[in-house]
Amino acid sequence: MIDQSFIKQLAGIVGPEHVFTQKEDMLTYSYDAAVLDSRMPGGAVMPGNTEELGEIVALCNGAGVPITVRGSGTNLSGGTIPESDGIVLLTGRLNQILEINEADMYAVVRPGVVTAALAAEVEKKGLFYPPDPGSMAVSTLGGNVAENAGGLRGLKYGVTKDYVMGLHFFDALGNYVKTGSRTVKCATGYNITGLMVGSEGTLGVLDQITLKLIPAPVARQSMVAVYDTIEKASETVAAIIAAHILPATLEILDNFTIRAVEDYSKAGLPMDADALILIEVDGHPAVVAEEGEKVQALCRQFGAQSVTLAKTDEERDKIWAARRSALSALAQVKPTLVLEDATVPRSKIPDMVRSLQAIAKKYKIDIGTFGHAGDGNLHPTILTDRRDQEEFHRVEQAIEEIFDKAIDLGGTLSGEHGTGIAKAPFLEKEAGYSSILFSRRLRKALDPNNILNPGKITGVSE
Ligand SMILES: Cc1cc2nc3c(=O)[nH]c(=O)nc-3n(C[C@H](O)[C@H](O)[C@H](O)COP(=O)(O)OP(=O)(O)OC[C@H]3O[C@@H](n4cnc5c(N)ncnc54)[C@H](O)[C@@H]3O)c2cc1C
Repeated sequence: MIDQSFIKQLAGIVGPEHVFTQKEDMLTYSYDAAVLDSRMPGGAVMPGNTEELGEIVALCNGAGVPITVRGSGTNLSGGTIPESDGIVLLTGRLNQILEINEADMYAVVRPGVVTAALAAEVEKKGLFYPPDPGSMAVSTLGGNVAENAGGLRGLKYGVTKDYVMGLHFFDALGNYVKTGSRTVKCATGYNITGLMVGSEGTLGVLDQITLKLIPAPVARQSMVAVYDTIEKASETVAAIIAAHILPATLEILDNFTIRAVEDYSKAGLPMDADALILIEVDGHPAVVAEEGEKVQALCRQFGAQSVTLAKTDEERDKIWAARRSALSALAQVKPTLVLEDATVPRSKIPDMVRSLQAIAKKYKIDIGTFGHAGDGNLHPTILTDRRDQEEFHRVEQAIEEIFDKAIDLGGTLSGEHGTGIAKAPFLEKEAGYSSILFSRRLRKALDPNNILNPGKITGVSE
């Protein structure tokens, strides 16, 4: 239980200046980027090193106080909404890049390092850390690992799980667990690293992360293809994949999103286009030239009105900055933005796009669609006002129908935003009850006092 004596013990570990209980602070930590009810925690604590982190976990376990770890709080599934009788554990001071090993191509970081900070550091050494969530300027690597975050480059380079070589974390009892290794291959013991990635703070508190780096691509070419129907754009996406070309990035924006982005970023996007696809191919210059030609030809074959190549780095950066601003741009349109994450096999993108249009019409709601079309991960984004209860009820019905459609098409509820609280009630639809029971038994065995981010992923156990 959190009382004055517990707060005093926390202060004894980290110093009183790193323990927070003021109402304004609790308000800040009561919500994240998901559209869900907020919940004020009992306190927040910001450890500065491994020892302090371990002592906090052990203290909470002994006192039965729930812990919700918070990086930057940008997750979109309610993963950092705390328990009212719990504490928020902030990773802001655990923000050191411990090592960048150029010879063996890996980096060792603390969980509070901002994603873009690591990407920039390794780039200086001619190396590349590909996972690039749209939030990378603020998201932390701890949050990325715990959510198995994806990004714009997922199509060719994979997502966070493809780069996590090893972890150090505290389990619920306060034991320090080391998994994986700094070697490219590692087949020792269970694949605990794999289990921890995407575990959303429910199985342990990450303290150290070893990440694979790869050589930076030598050449790249970005282009924008303009379409008068979104069907043609989505068919082009499926055709590029079917031609066995894997661009680094293959993104789609519908007209609703194009207009919002253009209003917001003045990037020069054609406001009257029904859809755009933004493409980047990268690698060896000869491959870039060949794949670039093939992609342009496919765009034209499937009805692109124009295909424009970025001629300079500035033009390239402008394209991707515009794309990265999509969510912020849409957020300006109405008071509430619900960003969905349903993902389908790539060949089903045209079906999914058509279904989204039909769902928007059926429930008389605004849905802007953009996203990582190349890996089947669309972000249907519903713009609404949560205070309008009647409209929000229609939005909830539409969301359920989007989930059902994605599953019917052989897809998944979440390509990259995780389960958290938002998707926990729908997990059974996709994974089945046995899978939920298995996960709950796992949690109970590893966390007998249920202190690690209770209620997330597996919901509340009976
Ligand atoms: C504008 C915008 C764009 C986005 N674009 C993308 C995108 O392209 N791709 C994508 O995948 N996501 C995207 N996201 C979602 C979000 O940024 C990611 O989920 C990101 O990984 C969260 O990082 P964070 O530091 O904010 O983590 P938080 O939100 O603070 O935490 C996320 C989860 O990780 C857990 N956690 C954090 N640190 C630790 C730790 N040290 N130990 C154990 N558990 C921990 C938390 O408890 C929580 O469950 C976007 C969000 C926004 C707002």
